[in-house]
Amino acid sequence: MTTINKQPRIGAHLPIGKGLKHTADEAVALGLEALQIFVRNPRGSGARTFTEEEVDYFKSTLLAHDINPVVVHIPYISNPAAAKDDLYELAHQVVKEDLQRCSLVGADYLVLHPGSYTTSTQEQGIDRIARLLNDVLDNYTGEVTVCLETMAGQGTEIGRDFNEINTILQLINNQERIGICLDTCHVFAAGYDVSSEEGIVQVLEEIDRTFGRDAIKFIHSNDSQKELGSKRDRHAHIGDGFIGEASFKRLLRHDFFGTLPFILETPFEEIDRDIAALKKLR
Ligand SMILES: [Zn+2]
Repeated sequence: MTTINKQPRIGAHLPIGKGLKHTADEAVALGLEALQIFVRNPRGSGARTFTEEEVDYFKSTLLAHDINPVVVHIPYISNPAAAKDDLYELAHQVVKEDLQRCSLVGADYLVLHPGSYTTSTQEQGIDRIARLLNDVLDNYTGEVTVCLETMAGQGTEIGRDFNEINTILQLINNQERIGICLDTCHVFAAGYDVSSEEGIVQVLEEIDRTFGRDAIKFIHSNDSQKELGSKRDRHAHIGDGFIGEASFKRLLRHDFFGTLPFILETPFEEIDRDIAALKKLR
């Protein structure tokens, strides 16, 4: 019996500062097969209203060039695990609004960092994230899936451990609308060794023991400036970090990981180099 080895789609996070039309054109020019964007200022909470014309152009261009999935990333600043009420309320509002904006721009996924529990406890932080997501998703009738991102574990960051992420996942009422984004840099910094063949076997065993493979919707494909288990979140260009080109080749050609979209979150200035590297390695 022969199996058709389908290649993983290669995507990248692109800025939207020059408008959605420009972003769509850039995605085409860069040869992207998947795309991630913010739909508001990533360092703040302000959101510009998109014009109908730019949204139409964005959607039709991506459709014409078969660029999918489209992922929207929640701004880094919003903290769904925040202990302070005003910050928590702000995160709630951002997740709710960005989910609506996903539908508007035709996105498939909304990805978020679970957040940091700051002055409270990890357990309380997990409760707050689950409550926020249930509040939003219980009132949502669209088809966008919210993805929790695996984290490096800096400070009081939640989501370093697959068990931790799975605890949140299991608390979500609407299992149809929740998934996982696996970030190679983050998991490596968290201590999951994706840089060796044996390491990948163990990581997969951990996945199977916790949230399961089907929960993973796409990969954030970043090399790591810091070493295994450093708990430091510092993305590096593919091949410039401790994960290395050979490991990305292994992941891209892997029976399971190779079926998922690989989305780059490396500095935009040299994104073309990383896109070329992944396309060569797959
Ligand atoms: Zn990421």
